[in-house]
Amino acid sequence: MSFSDLGLSEDLLRAVADAGYTEPTPIQAQAIPVVLMGRDVLGCAQTGTGKTASFTLPMIDILASGRAKARMPRSLILEPTRELAAQVADNFDTYGKYHTKLSKALLIGGESMAEQLKVLDRGVDVLIATPGRLLDVFERGHLLMNDVRTLVIDEADRMLDMGFIPDVEKIVSLLSPMRTTLFFSATMPPEIKKLADKFLSNPKEITVSRPATTAATITQGLIIVTHKDGKRPGGGQKEKRDALRQLIRRDDPKNALIFCNRKRDVDVVWRSLNRHGFVAERLHGDMAQPVRMETLNKFKNGDFKYMVCSDVAARGLDIPEMSHVFNFDVPTHADDYVHRIGRTGRAGHKGHAYTLATPEDAKYLQGIEKITGNAIPELKLDGVEEAKLVTVEDKPRKRRSNKQSASKPVEVKEVTDVKVPEPPSQATETKKPKRPARKAKPETASTDSNKPFKGLGDHVPAFLKIQV
Ligand code: AMP
Repeated sequence: MSFSDLGLSEDLLRAVADAGYTEPTPIQAQAIPVVLMGRDVLGCAQTGTGKTASFTLPMIDILASGRAKARMPRSLILEPTRELAAQVADNFDTYGKYHTKLSKALLIGGESMAEQLKVLDRGVDVLIATPGRLLDVFERGHLLMNDVRTLVIDEADRMLDMGFIPDVEKIVSLLSPMRTTLFFSATMPPEIKKLADKFLSNPKEITVSRPATTAATITQGLIIVTHKDGKRPGGGQKEKRDALRQLIRRDDPKNALIFCNRKRDVDVVWRSLNRHGFVAERLHGDMAQPVRMETLNKFKNGDFKYMVCSDVAARGLDIPEMSHVFNFDVPTHADDYVHRIGRTGRAGHKGHAYTLATPEDAKYLQGIEKITGNAIPELKLDGVEEAKLVTVEDKPRKRRSNKQSASKPVEVKEVTDVKVPEPPSQATETKKPKRPARKAKPETASTDSNKPFKGLGDHVPAFLKIQV
C-alpha cells in the first residue's frame, strides 16, 4: 500500500514525500479513504501510530475547497493539552505546505487570547483547541461554531482522565449535526464507548496497536540508592543526583528525558545538572507556554541533551530518537512508568530507561512489575552504595538493617534488551481512578480562562496566509 492509493491530492502526496514517509501506517491506510468519503471514524490508537496524519491529511484535502468566514471555523480539533494541540498544528504546517490558502488557529491556554481572537476574526479553516479555552472564547461571544463540518476529538480517554468530558459534551452540543466526526482514543473503556456512541453516526471502527518492537528495544535498569534520611518521604535526593550523574557519564546519552514526580524536584535536578556541567533544560506546567514551546523545540533540534520534566508536561510529546529516559523518581502510578519509558526505543531504535529508587519505593515498583509483568532488572553502579528495597511487611525499624556496606566495589552489570510487554492499553496511562482530577492544576487547559493573555507568540504557521 502506498500513499498514492489513498485518494489524496498531488499536493499532499508531495508534502508527504517531503516529510520522508514512504508508506502509510496502518491507521493512515484505513482511516484516510474513509475520512475522504465523509464517514465518521472511531479510531482506537495511541500516539506513535501515525494517527495525527490519519486525520490531518484528509482534512487538508477536504478543506482545500471553500473559504472560512470570520469567527466561523470550518473544522475543529479538540486536544487535551496545549503541547498536543501545538503538535497537531505542526502537522498541518508539514502536510499543508503546498496548500498555501489553508489557515488555522490555535486556541490554547497560556497564550494571548487577544492574539488568538485576531486570527479567528479573519476566518480559519482549522481551529485546534483545548476544551477550556475554546469554551471560554465561545462564551465571550468571539466564536460561532455553525460552520464546523469536521470535528476531531483526539485522545478522548485522556480528556476523561483530565476531567474535560463535560466541556467536550458541551462543545459537541453547540455543533451542527451535519458534520463528520473523527473520534480517537487509545482505549475504549465503557465511558468512552458511550461518548463515541453519542457523538458518532455509523462510524468506521479502526483499531491499531503500537508496534511491539518499540518496547522490546528498551534496556531497563533499576538503581536503588541508600540514604541517611531514612523514613523521610522523598529522601535520598542527593544520592539519586549522584547516581544520575554517574549514569550520564557512563552512557553519554545522545539525548535524555529525566522525569521527576514533583515540579519542585524538576527545578532542583535541572539546577544540579547544570552546576555539574551538563547542559540541561526543564519543562513543567508552571512555566509560561511560549517558554515551554521554545524549550521543546530546542530539545527536538538537539540544542541541548538533557530535559528534566514532569509527567504532565511531557505526556504525548513526540520526540523522535530519544536515546535515554531516566526516572529520577519511581512514578507512583505504574502506568506513568510505561508512558515514560515509551519515550525511548521508538520506531525500532535502541533505547535505555533507568529508574532511580530508594528502599521505600518497594510498593511502587511492585505496582510497575504487576502491570508490565516483569521486575525492572537491578543495576549496580560503582561507588553507589548498595541498598535493598524495604518490603511492605518490613517495619520502619528494619530499614536500617537494609542499608548495605559500601566497602565492596560493585561491578556494573547491565541487562540488555529486556522485553517490556505492551501496555495493556493506554488507559493505563490515563485512567487512574484514585488520582484526583487534574482539572484544577495549572498545567491543564481547564485553567485557560485564569491565565493572563500573553500572545500567540511565534506560533504562526508557515502556511497561514491571512488576508488582512
Ligand atoms: P503520531 O502517532 O501522529 O504522534 O505520529 C508519530 C510519529 O510518526 C510522528 O513523528 C510522525 O511524524 C511519524 N509518522 C507519521 N506517519 C508516518 C509515516 N507514514 N511514515 C513514517 N513516519 C510517520
